[in-house]
Amino acid sequence: MNEPRNARKAAALRRALALIIALLVLTAGALPVFAEGEEPAQAQRLHLEINGAYTPVKSNYLGENVNPLTDSSFRTEAVVHGSITLSAPAAVSTLYIVFADTPATFYVKSGDKRVDVAANYLELPVDVSALNSRELTLFFPDKVNVCDVYAFAAGELPAWVQRWDPPCEKADLLLISTHADDEQLFFAGVLPYYTSRGDCEVQVAYFTDHTNRPHRRHELLKGLWAVGVRHYPVIGDIPDAYSETEAQAVKNLKAAGMSREDALLQQIRVIRRFKPQVVVSHDPKGEYGHGQHMLCAATLLEAAPLAADAESDPVSVSQYGAWDVPKIYLHSYEENPIVMNWDEPLEAFGGKTAFQVSQEGFMCHLSQTNSWFRDWIFGKNKEITKASEITTYSPCNYGLARTTVGEDVNKNDFLENITTYSEQARLEAEAEAKRIAEEQAAAEAAEQAKKETERESAEAEASHRRVMLALAITAACLTVLTVASYAARRVFEKRAEKKRSGK
Ligand SMILES: [Zn+2]
Repeated sequence: MNEPRNARKAAALRRALALIIALLVLTAGALPVFAEGEEPAQAQRLHLEINGAYTPVKSNYLGENVNPLTDSSFRTEAVVHGSITLSAPAAVSTLYIVFADTPATFYVKSGDKRVDVAANYLELPVDVSALNSRELTLFFPDKVNVCDVYAFAAGELPAWVQRWDPPCEKADLLLISTHADDEQLFFAGVLPYYTSRGDCEVQVAYFTDHTNRPHRRHELLKGLWAVGVRHYPVIGDIPDAYSETEAQAVKNLKAAGMSREDALLQQIRVIRRFKPQVVVSHDPKGEYGHGQHMLCAATLLEAAPLAADAESDPVSVSQYGAWDVPKIYLHSYEENPIVMNWDEPLEAFGGKTAFQVSQEGFMCHLSQTNSWFRDWIFGKNKEITKASEITTYSPCNYGLARTTVGEDVNKNDFLENITTYSEQARLEAEAEAKRIAEEQAAAEAAEQAKKETERESAEAEASHRRVMLALAITAACLTVLTVASYAARRVFEKRAEKKRSGK
Protein backbone atom coordinates (compact mmCIF):
# COMPACT_ATOMS: atom_id res chain seq x y z
CA MET A 1 0.00 0.00 0.00
CA ASN A 2 2.76 2.44 0.95
CA GLU A 3 4.93 1.63 -2.02
CA PRO A 4 2.64 2.84 -4.85
CA ARG A 5 1.82 5.99 -2.85
CA ASN A 6 5.57 6.67 -2.41
CA ALA A 7 6.12 5.98 -6.10
CA ARG A 8 3.35 8.49 -6.97
CA LYS A 9 4.88 11.03 -4.59
CA ALA A 10 8.33 10.53 -6.15
CA ALA A 11 6.89 10.87 -9.66
CA ALA A 12 5.09 14.10 -8.65
CA LEU A 13 8.31 15.46 -7.13
CA ARG A 14 10.24 14.60 -10.32
CA ARG A 15 7.60 16.38 -12.44
CA ALA A 16 7.75 19.47 -10.19
CA LEU A 17 11.54 19.44 -10.30
CA ALA A 18 11.51 19.08 -14.11
CA LEU A 19 9.04 22.01 -14.34
CA ILE A 20 11.25 24.19 -12.12
CA ILE A 21 14.36 23.31 -14.17
CA ALA A 22 12.49 24.02 -17.44
CA LEU A 23 11.31 27.40 -16.08
CA LEU A 24 14.85 28.27 -14.95
CA VAL A 25 16.26 27.36 -18.38
CA LEU A 26 13.56 29.43 -20.13
CA THR A 27 14.14 32.43 -17.85
CA ALA A 28 17.91 32.24 -18.32
CA GLY A 29 17.41 32.14 -22.09
CA ALA A 30 15.05 35.08 -21.98
CA LEU A 31 17.26 37.32 -19.84
CA PRO A 32 19.75 38.47 -22.54
CA VAL A 33 16.81 39.14 -24.88
CA PHE A 34 15.35 41.57 -22.32
CA ALA A 35 18.75 43.16 -21.81
CA GLU A 36 19.13 43.72 -25.56
CA GLY A 37 15.77 45.48 -25.72
CA GLU A 38 16.89 48.09 -23.19
CA GLU A 39 19.44 50.92 -23.48
CA PRO A 40 22.32 49.68 -25.68
CA ALA A 41 25.34 48.87 -23.55
CA GLN A 42 28.71 50.45 -24.30
CA ALA A 43 30.34 48.44 -27.10
CA GLN A 44 33.14 46.27 -25.76
CA ARG A 45 36.53 46.74 -27.41
CA LEU A 46 37.79 43.40 -28.73
CA HIS A 47 41.41 42.28 -28.67
CA LEU A 48 42.70 41.67 -32.21
CA GLU A 49 45.26 39.26 -33.59
CA ILE A 50 46.47 40.69 -36.91
CA ASN A 51 48.34 38.76 -39.58
CA GLY A 52 49.23 39.39 -43.19
CA ALA A 53 50.87 41.99 -45.40
CA TYR A 54 51.95 44.80 -43.11
CA THR A 55 55.32 46.23 -42.14
CA PRO A 56 55.77 48.41 -39.05
CA VAL A 57 57.26 51.85 -39.78
CA LYS A 58 60.37 52.22 -37.65
CA SER A 59 59.96 55.83 -36.54
CA ASN A 60 58.15 55.97 -33.20
CA TYR A 61 58.37 52.18 -33.20
CA LEU A 62 57.64 50.85 -29.75
CA GLY A 63 59.48 47.54 -30.14
CA GLU A 64 58.91 44.06 -31.44
CA ASN A 65 56.39 43.17 -28.78
CA VAL A 66 54.05 46.01 -29.69
CA ASN A 67 51.95 45.84 -32.83
CA PRO A 68 51.65 49.42 -34.18
CA LEU A 69 48.20 48.55 -35.53
CA THR A 70 46.74 47.67 -32.14
CA ASP A 71 48.66 49.95 -29.76
CA SER A 72 45.99 52.72 -29.82
CA SER A 73 48.58 55.29 -30.86
CA PHE A 74 48.45 57.43 -33.98
CA ARG A 75 52.14 58.15 -33.44
CA THR A 76 52.97 54.61 -34.64
CA GLU A 77 52.02 53.10 -37.99
CA ALA A 78 52.50 50.24 -40.40
CA VAL A 79 52.55 50.09 -44.18
CA VAL A 80 49.72 47.85 -45.31
CA HIS A 81 49.00 46.55 -48.77
CA GLY A 82 47.21 43.50 -49.93
CA SER A 83 45.29 41.78 -47.19
CA ILE A 84 45.49 41.53 -43.43
CA THR A 85 43.41 39.13 -41.38
CA LEU A 86 41.87 40.03 -38.06
CA SER A 87 40.88 37.51 -35.40
CA ALA A 88 38.76 38.61 -32.45
CA PRO A 89 37.39 36.59 -29.50
CA ALA A 90 33.80 37.48 -30.51
CA ALA A 91 31.87 38.72 -33.55
CA VAL A 92 33.05 42.19 -34.59
CA SER A 93 30.29 44.76 -35.08
CA THR A 94 32.39 47.85 -35.86
CA LEU A 95 35.96 48.36 -37.01
CA TYR A 96 37.57 51.75 -36.43
CA ILE A 97 40.38 52.45 -38.87
CA VAL A 98 42.90 55.23 -38.28
CA PHE A 99 44.98 56.05 -41.38
CA ALA A 100 48.33 57.81 -40.98
CA ASP A 101 47.96 60.67 -43.46
CA THR A 102 45.84 59.53 -46.41
CA PRO A 103 42.49 57.78 -46.27
CA ALA A 104 42.24 54.75 -48.58
CA THR A 105 39.48 52.77 -50.24
CA PHE A 106 39.33 49.17 -49.04
CA TYR A 107 36.94 46.34 -48.29
CA VAL A 108 36.28 43.93 -45.47
CA LYS A 109 35.43 40.31 -46.19
CA SER A 110 34.26 37.26 -44.30
CA GLY A 111 33.29 34.10 -46.19
CA ASP A 112 31.45 35.24 -49.29
CA LYS A 113 30.15 38.47 -47.67
CA ARG A 114 31.88 41.79 -48.24
CA VAL A 115 31.62 45.42 -47.07
CA ASP A 116 33.12 48.15 -49.30
CA VAL A 117 34.52 51.27 -47.67
CA ALA A 118 35.09 54.63 -49.39
CA ALA A 119 38.24 56.64 -48.75
CA ASN A 120 36.80 59.75 -47.17
CA TYR A 121 38.09 60.41 -43.66
CA LEU A 122 41.38 59.88 -41.89
CA GLU A 123 39.59 58.12 -39.03
CA LEU A 124 36.42 56.20 -39.67
CA PRO A 125 34.19 53.55 -38.14
CA VAL A 126 33.13 50.70 -40.45
CA ASP A 127 29.93 48.81 -39.71
CA VAL A 128 30.76 45.13 -40.28
CA SER A 129 27.83 43.75 -38.26
CA ALA A 130 26.35 42.26 -41.47
CA LEU A 131 29.38 39.96 -41.71
CA ASN A 132 28.62 38.64 -38.20
CA SER A 133 32.09 37.17 -37.82
CA ARG A 134 35.11 37.19 -35.54
CA GLU A 135 37.46 36.44 -38.47
CA LEU A 136 37.72 39.30 -40.94
CA THR A 137 39.99 40.05 -43.88
CA LEU A 138 40.81 43.63 -44.91
CA PHE A 139 41.88 44.21 -48.52
CA PHE A 140 43.83 47.36 -49.34
CA PRO A 141 44.32 47.56 -53.12
CA ASP A 142 46.96 50.31 -52.74
CA LYS A 143 49.81 50.64 -50.33
CA VAL A 144 48.67 52.75 -47.37
CA ASN A 145 49.98 53.70 -43.93
CA VAL A 146 47.65 52.69 -41.14
CA CYS A 147 48.06 53.78 -37.52
CA ASP A 148 45.42 51.71 -35.78
CA VAL A 149 42.70 49.14 -36.24
CA TYR A 150 40.16 48.93 -33.40
CA ALA A 151 37.39 46.34 -33.17
CA PHE A 152 34.17 46.65 -31.17
CA ALA A 153 31.44 44.17 -30.32
CA ALA A 154 27.81 45.27 -30.76
CA GLY A 155 26.68 48.19 -28.59
CA GLU A 156 27.03 51.93 -28.31
CA LEU A 157 30.43 53.09 -29.56
CA PRO A 158 32.53 55.16 -27.14
CA ALA A 159 32.12 58.96 -27.45
CA TRP A 160 35.70 59.37 -28.72
CA VAL A 161 35.00 57.32 -31.88
CA GLN A 162 34.72 59.93 -34.62
CA ARG A 163 31.66 59.67 -36.85
CA TRP A 164 32.09 62.56 -39.28
CA ASP A 165 29.52 64.26 -41.44
CA PRO A 166 30.82 65.49 -44.80
CA PRO A 167 32.12 69.07 -44.96
CA CYS A 168 29.30 71.68 -45.07
CA GLU A 169 27.59 72.52 -48.33
CA LYS A 170 26.97 75.97 -46.88
CA ALA A 171 28.45 77.14 -43.60
CA ASP A 172 26.95 79.77 -41.32
CA LEU A 173 30.29 80.14 -39.62
CA LEU A 174 33.64 79.31 -41.19
CA LEU A 175 36.65 79.38 -38.89
CA ILE A 176 39.92 79.68 -40.79
CA SER A 177 42.64 78.54 -38.42
CA THR A 178 46.24 78.75 -39.56
CA HIS A 179 47.56 75.76 -37.66
CA ALA A 180 46.24 72.71 -35.87
CA ASP A 181 45.77 74.14 -32.31
CA ASP A 182 44.95 77.82 -33.10
CA GLU A 183 41.26 76.81 -33.25
CA GLN A 184 41.45 75.81 -29.58
CA LEU A 185 43.80 78.60 -28.43
CA PHE A 186 43.24 82.06 -29.91
CA PHE A 187 39.76 81.01 -31.04
CA ALA A 188 38.99 79.33 -27.68
CA GLY A 189 35.25 79.33 -27.07
CA VAL A 190 34.18 79.85 -30.69
CA LEU A 191 33.69 76.21 -31.67
CA PRO A 192 31.95 74.83 -28.53
CA TYR A 193 29.72 77.91 -28.38
CA TYR A 194 28.52 77.79 -31.99
CA THR A 195 28.43 74.00 -32.44
CA SER A 196 26.22 73.69 -29.36
CA ARG A 197 23.71 76.36 -30.43
CA GLY A 198 21.96 73.92 -32.76
CA ASP A 199 20.86 76.65 -35.17
CA CYS A 200 23.99 77.06 -37.29
CA GLU A 201 26.41 75.02 -39.36
CA VAL A 202 30.06 75.33 -38.39
CA GLN A 203 32.96 74.51 -40.70
CA VAL A 204 36.67 74.62 -39.90
CA ALA A 205 39.31 75.14 -42.59
CA TYR A 206 43.06 75.09 -41.90
CA PHE A 207 45.34 77.44 -43.78
CA THR A 208 48.40 75.19 -43.42
CA ASP A 209 49.07 71.49 -43.47
CA HIS A 210 51.49 69.80 -41.07
CA THR A 211 52.54 67.30 -43.71
CA ASN A 212 55.84 66.66 -41.98
CA ARG A 213 54.01 65.72 -38.77
CA PRO A 214 50.88 63.70 -39.67
CA HIS A 215 50.02 63.14 -35.99
CA ARG A 216 48.97 66.80 -35.84
CA ARG A 217 46.08 66.00 -38.18
CA HIS A 218 44.93 63.36 -35.73
CA GLU A 219 45.30 65.80 -32.85
CA LEU A 220 43.19 68.35 -34.71
CA LEU A 221 40.50 65.77 -35.53
CA LYS A 222 40.41 64.58 -31.93
CA GLY A 223 40.19 68.17 -30.69
CA LEU A 224 37.47 69.20 -33.15
CA TRP A 225 35.45 66.11 -32.27
CA ALA A 226 35.77 66.94 -28.57
CA VAL A 227 34.45 70.49 -29.00
CA GLY A 228 31.38 69.40 -30.96
CA VAL A 229 32.44 69.95 -34.58
CA ARG A 230 30.77 67.32 -36.76
CA HIS A 231 31.54 68.48 -40.31
CA TYR A 232 34.88 67.08 -41.45
CA PRO A 233 37.48 69.86 -41.67
CA VAL A 234 39.42 70.83 -44.76
CA ILE A 235 43.17 71.36 -44.70
CA GLY A 236 44.96 73.76 -47.06
CA ASP A 237 48.14 73.18 -49.03
CA ILE A 238 50.45 75.69 -47.35
CA PRO A 239 53.37 74.02 -45.58
CA ASP A 240 53.87 74.90 -41.93
CA ALA A 241 56.95 77.05 -41.30
CA TYR A 242 57.73 79.55 -38.57
CA SER A 243 58.19 83.23 -39.46
CA GLU A 244 57.93 86.57 -37.71
CA THR A 245 56.69 88.73 -40.56
CA GLU A 246 54.33 88.30 -43.47
CA ALA A 247 57.24 88.84 -45.89
CA GLN A 248 59.16 86.03 -44.22
CA ALA A 249 56.10 83.79 -44.47
CA VAL A 250 55.94 84.52 -48.21
CA LYS A 251 59.65 83.74 -48.48
CA ASN A 252 59.00 80.36 -46.80
CA LEU A 253 56.21 79.75 -49.30
CA LYS A 254 58.59 80.42 -52.20
CA ALA A 255 61.13 78.05 -50.73
CA ALA A 256 58.41 75.38 -50.80
CA GLY A 257 57.67 76.11 -54.48
CA MET A 258 54.53 78.17 -53.78
CA SER A 259 53.64 81.84 -53.98
CA ARG A 260 51.50 84.41 -52.17
CA GLU A 261 49.09 84.08 -55.12
CA ASP A 262 48.59 80.42 -54.22
CA ALA A 263 47.68 81.40 -50.66
CA LEU A 264 45.24 84.02 -51.95
CA LEU A 265 43.67 81.52 -54.35
CA GLN A 266 43.25 79.02 -51.53
CA GLN A 267 41.33 81.63 -49.50
CA ILE A 268 39.12 82.57 -52.48
CA ARG A 269 38.30 78.92 -53.07
CA VAL A 270 37.52 78.09 -49.47
CA ILE A 271 35.15 81.08 -49.32
CA ARG A 272 33.39 80.07 -52.54
CA ARG A 273 33.18 76.43 -51.52
CA PHE A 274 31.55 76.97 -48.12
CA LYS A 275 29.56 80.18 -48.86
CA PRO A 276 30.02 81.28 -45.25
CA GLN A 277 27.77 83.93 -43.74
CA VAL A 278 30.52 84.74 -41.30
CA VAL A 279 34.25 84.04 -41.47
CA VAL A 280 36.30 84.15 -38.27
CA SER A 281 40.06 84.29 -38.53
CA HIS A 282 43.34 85.64 -37.18
CA ASP A 283 44.67 88.84 -35.75
CA PRO A 284 46.32 90.70 -38.68
CA LYS A 285 49.26 91.29 -36.33
CA GLY A 286 49.77 87.54 -36.17
CA GLU A 287 48.50 86.92 -32.58
CA TYR A 288 51.96 86.71 -30.95
CA GLY A 289 53.64 87.87 -34.16
CA HIS A 290 53.60 84.68 -36.25
CA GLY A 291 54.05 85.56 -39.93
CA GLN A 292 51.81 82.74 -41.13
CA HIS A 293 48.92 84.05 -39.01
CA MET A 294 49.54 87.50 -40.57
CA LEU A 295 49.54 86.02 -44.07
CA CYS A 296 46.34 84.12 -43.34
CA ALA A 297 44.51 87.30 -42.19
CA ALA A 298 45.88 89.49 -45.00
CA THR A 299 45.03 87.03 -47.79
CA LEU A 300 41.57 86.49 -46.30
CA LEU A 301 40.76 90.23 -46.40
CA GLU A 302 42.04 90.42 -49.99
CA ALA A 303 40.18 87.26 -51.00
CA ALA A 304 36.74 88.46 -49.82
CA PRO A 305 36.07 90.98 -52.66
CA LEU A 306 37.75 88.67 -55.21
CA ALA A 307 35.53 85.74 -54.16
CA ALA A 308 32.52 87.97 -54.92
CA ASP A 309 33.89 88.90 -58.34
CA ALA A 310 32.79 86.37 -60.98
CA GLU A 311 35.70 87.50 -63.20
CA SER A 312 38.38 86.24 -60.79
CA ASP A 313 39.47 82.58 -60.77
CA PRO A 314 37.00 81.14 -63.32
CA VAL A 315 37.89 77.61 -62.17
CA SER A 316 36.30 78.03 -58.75
CA VAL A 317 33.50 80.18 -60.18
CA SER A 318 32.43 77.29 -62.39
CA GLN A 319 32.81 74.84 -59.51
CA TYR A 320 31.13 76.78 -56.71
CA GLY A 321 29.94 80.14 -58.05
CA ALA A 322 31.00 83.56 -56.71
CA TRP A 323 30.30 84.41 -53.07
CA ASP A 324 30.14 87.74 -51.28
CA VAL A 325 30.92 87.06 -47.60
CA PRO A 326 28.52 89.09 -45.45
CA LYS A 327 30.80 89.34 -42.40
CA ILE A 328 34.43 88.76 -41.41
CA TYR A 329 35.64 88.93 -37.82
CA LEU A 330 39.31 88.99 -36.99
CA HIS A 331 40.71 88.12 -33.59
CA SER A 332 42.13 91.13 -31.66
CA TYR A 333 41.07 93.44 -34.53
CA GLU A 334 40.81 96.97 -33.25
CA GLU A 335 38.07 98.38 -35.51
CA ASN A 336 34.39 97.72 -34.70
CA PRO A 337 35.38 95.76 -31.59
CA ILE A 338 33.12 93.24 -29.94
CA VAL A 339 33.71 91.28 -26.74
CA MET A 340 32.45 87.72 -26.71
CA ASN A 341 31.41 85.95 -23.53
CA TRP A 342 32.73 82.39 -23.53
CA ASP A 343 32.21 81.93 -19.79
CA GLU A 344 28.54 80.95 -19.65
CA PRO A 345 27.77 77.29 -18.83
CA LEU A 346 26.55 75.28 -21.84
CA GLU A 347 23.93 72.60 -21.35
CA ALA A 348 25.21 70.63 -24.36
CA PHE A 349 28.56 70.22 -22.59
CA GLY A 350 27.17 69.28 -19.19
CA GLY A 351 27.45 72.79 -17.77
CA LYS A 352 31.05 73.44 -18.82
CA THR A 353 31.66 76.81 -20.46
CA ALA A 354 32.69 77.17 -24.08
CA PHE A 355 36.13 78.27 -22.87
CA GLN A 356 36.56 75.22 -20.62
CA VAL A 357 35.56 72.91 -23.48
CA SER A 358 38.20 74.56 -25.69
CA GLN A 359 40.77 74.09 -22.90
CA GLU A 360 40.00 70.35 -23.13
CA GLY A 361 40.14 70.57 -26.92
CA PHE A 362 43.62 72.06 -26.69
CA MET A 363 44.76 69.12 -24.54
CA CYS A 364 44.03 66.85 -27.56
CA HIS A 365 47.04 68.57 -29.17
CA LEU A 366 49.48 66.62 -27.04
CA SER A 367 52.46 67.58 -29.20
CA GLN A 368 51.81 71.27 -28.35
CA THR A 369 51.18 71.02 -24.63
CA ASN A 370 54.81 71.47 -23.60
CA SER A 371 54.88 75.00 -24.99
CA TRP A 372 53.93 78.41 -23.55
CA PHE A 373 50.48 77.92 -25.08
CA ARG A 374 49.60 75.66 -22.18
CA ASP A 375 50.48 78.34 -19.61
CA TRP A 376 48.61 80.90 -21.71
CA ILE A 377 45.33 78.96 -21.73
CA PHE A 378 45.53 77.31 -18.26
CA GLY A 379 47.82 79.70 -16.34
CA LYS A 380 51.16 78.69 -14.85
CA ASN A 381 49.40 77.07 -11.89
CA LYS A 382 46.21 76.07 -13.70
CA GLU A 383 44.55 79.14 -12.20
CA ILE A 384 42.78 80.20 -15.41
CA THR A 385 39.26 78.80 -15.67
CA LYS A 386 37.62 81.70 -17.53
CA ALA A 387 38.36 83.24 -20.92
CA SER A 388 37.94 86.67 -19.33
CA GLU A 389 40.91 85.94 -17.04
CA ILE A 390 43.30 85.85 -20.02
CA THR A 391 44.89 89.27 -20.41
CA THR A 392 47.19 88.89 -23.43
CA TYR A 393 45.66 88.01 -26.83
CA SER A 394 42.30 87.62 -25.06
CA PRO A 395 40.16 85.04 -26.89
CA CYS A 396 37.13 87.25 -26.19
CA ASN A 397 38.20 90.23 -28.31
CA TYR A 398 37.25 90.45 -31.98
CA GLY A 399 36.64 93.18 -34.50
CA LEU A 400 34.27 93.29 -37.47
CA ALA A 401 36.60 93.71 -40.44
CA ARG A 402 34.02 93.38 -43.23
CA THR A 403 30.25 93.65 -43.32
CA THR A 404 27.62 93.82 -46.04
CA VAL A 405 24.83 93.58 -43.44
CA GLY A 406 25.47 96.66 -41.31
CA GLU A 407 27.29 97.33 -38.07
CA ASP A 408 26.72 95.30 -34.93
CA VAL A 409 24.51 96.85 -32.30
CA ASN A 410 24.44 94.24 -29.54
CA LYS A 411 28.07 93.28 -30.16
CA ASN A 412 27.83 89.85 -28.55
CA ASP A 413 27.21 87.44 -31.41
CA PHE A 414 29.08 86.78 -34.68
CA LEU A 415 25.69 85.94 -36.21
CA GLU A 416 24.12 89.32 -35.41
CA ASN A 417 22.26 90.63 -38.52
CA ILE A 418 22.56 87.20 -40.12
CA THR A 419 19.70 84.88 -41.02
CA THR A 420 21.22 81.42 -40.64
CA TYR A 421 20.83 78.91 -43.48
CA SER A 422 18.49 76.74 -41.41
CA GLU A 423 16.34 79.80 -40.61
CA GLN A 424 16.39 80.77 -44.31
CA ALA A 425 15.25 77.25 -45.21
CA ARG A 426 12.50 77.44 -42.56
CA LEU A 427 11.31 80.82 -43.88
CA GLU A 428 11.41 79.54 -47.48
CA ALA A 429 9.43 76.43 -46.52
CA GLU A 430 6.94 78.64 -44.66
CA ALA A 431 6.57 80.97 -47.69
CA GLU A 432 6.19 77.98 -50.01
CA ALA A 433 3.55 76.42 -47.74
CA LYS A 434 1.74 79.79 -47.67
CA ARG A 435 1.94 80.07 -51.48
CA ILE A 436 0.57 76.53 -51.91
CA ALA A 437 -2.23 77.20 -49.40
CA GLU A 438 -3.14 80.42 -51.20
CA GLU A 439 -3.09 78.66 -54.58
CA GLN A 440 -5.30 75.91 -53.19
CA ALA A 441 -7.71 78.44 -51.70
CA ALA A 442 -7.86 80.31 -55.05
CA ALA A 443 -8.42 77.05 -56.96
CA GLU A 444 -11.16 76.06 -54.50
CA ALA A 445 -12.82 79.48 -54.83
CA ALA A 446 -12.68 79.24 -58.64
CA GLU A 447 -14.15 75.74 -58.50
CA GLN A 448 -16.89 76.99 -56.17
CA ALA A 449 -17.65 79.92 -58.50
CA LYS A 450 -17.74 77.57 -61.49
CA LYS A 451 -20.14 75.25 -59.65
CA GLU A 452 -22.30 78.26 -58.68
CA THR A 453 -22.45 79.44 -62.32
CA GLU A 454 -23.27 75.93 -63.50
CA ARG A 455 -25.98 75.62 -60.85
CA GLU A 456 -27.43 79.03 -61.82
CA SER A 457 -27.44 78.23 -65.53
CA ALA A 458 -28.94 74.79 -64.84
CA GLU A 459 -31.62 76.51 -62.75
CA ALA A 460 -32.27 79.07 -65.51
CA GLU A 461 -32.50 76.26 -68.04
CA ALA A 462 -34.93 74.34 -65.83
CA SER A 463 -37.07 77.42 -65.27
CA HIS A 464 -36.99 78.15 -69.01
CA ARG A 465 -38.13 74.58 -69.62
CA ARG A 466 -40.93 74.98 -67.05
CA VAL A 467 -42.16 78.19 -68.76
CA MET A 468 -42.07 76.54 -72.19
CA LEU A 469 -43.96 73.56 -70.84
CA ALA A 470 -46.57 75.82 -69.27
CA LEU A 471 -46.90 77.68 -72.55
CA ALA A 472 -47.23 74.43 -74.46
CA ILE A 473 -49.87 73.18 -72.03
CA THR A 474 -51.74 76.50 -72.26
CA ALA A 475 -51.54 76.38 -76.04
CA ALA A 476 -52.78 72.79 -76.05
CA CYS A 477 -55.62 73.69 -73.68
CA LEU A 478 -56.55 76.66 -75.83
CA THR A 479 -56.53 74.46 -78.94
CA VAL A 480 -58.71 71.87 -77.21
CA LEU A 481 -61.06 74.62 -76.03
CA THR A 482 -61.19 76.18 -79.50
CA VAL A 483 -61.87 72.84 -81.16
CA ALA A 484 -64.42 71.93 -78.50
CA SER A 485 -66.19 75.29 -78.74
CA TYR A 486 -66.18 75.03 -82.54
CA ALA A 487 -67.62 71.50 -82.36
CA ALA A 488 -70.23 72.61 -79.83
CA ARG A 489 -71.16 75.50 -82.01
CA ARG A 490 -71.49 73.15 -84.96
CA VAL A 491 -73.77 70.85 -82.93
CA PHE A 492 -75.98 73.77 -81.90
CA GLU A 493 -76.11 75.06 -85.43
CA LYS A 494 -77.10 71.62 -86.76
CA ARG A 495 -79.75 71.25 -84.09
CA ALA A 496 -81.07 74.69 -84.95
CA GLU A 497 -81.14 73.80 -88.63
CA LYS A 498 -83.04 70.61 -87.95
CA LYS A 499 -85.57 72.53 -85.89
CA ARG A 500 -85.98 75.04 -88.60
CA SER A 501 -86.37 72.45 -91.35
CA GLY A 502 -88.74 70.43 -89.10
CA LYS A 503 -91.08 73.34 -88.97
ZN1 LIG B 1 49.19 79.07 -35.27
